[in-house]
Amino acid sequence: MEASNTNTSWKDKPPYAFTGESKSFKAKYSAQCYCGSVQYEINDDPVDSTYCHCKGCQRLQGAPLQWASIFHKSSIRFTKGVDQLIFYNNSTNKQTHELPCKVYCRDCRTPLADEGRNMWLAFPMLFKQFDEMKEKLRPSCHLFYGQRCVDIKDGLPKFEGHKNKSQQIQE
Ligand SMILES: [Zn+2]
Ligand SMILES: [Zn+2]
Repeated sequence: MEASNTNTSWKDKPPYAFTGESKSFKAKYSAQCYCGSVQYEINDDPVDSTYCHCKGCQRLQGAPLQWASIFHKSSIRFTKGVDQLIFYNNSTNKQTHELPCKVYCRDCRTPLADEGRNMWLAFPMLFKQFDEMKEKLRPSCHLFYGQRCVDIKDGLPKFEGHKNKSQQIQE
């Protein structure tokens, strides 16, 4: 038995259990992993989107940066595969649902989101509506640009570390 399955109380809370009114749920975004075992929907627009260039994101995503769109957990409902999820907490190095943690599909290992206490950092490339909703998902800034491995000249603010809490770097 995997350690991630020993405590399953997370299943009773958003975003894994939808606690709002199901009838009024209108999906704006539907996300799925590579293999399709896990699917979820979101009924709201993101509160913000960012590009993160930190070394942790680079390694954990296996990519030059992480594009995340931030949603309230209460606007999400899973439609498939809650039992297929695995978690990873990179500060304790444990595969447990201890927030904040990373969420993956157990079958294809697609990174699905970074789950915080109240917020869900989704990866918009998993959205079926990515092309049509690109403008709504467009990042407001670059984070940890001081750790970047690629230069991006897009005119967006570039913070050395956290948003509005660190110096900006010129393009
Ligand atoms: Zn999958
Ligand atoms: Zn990062």
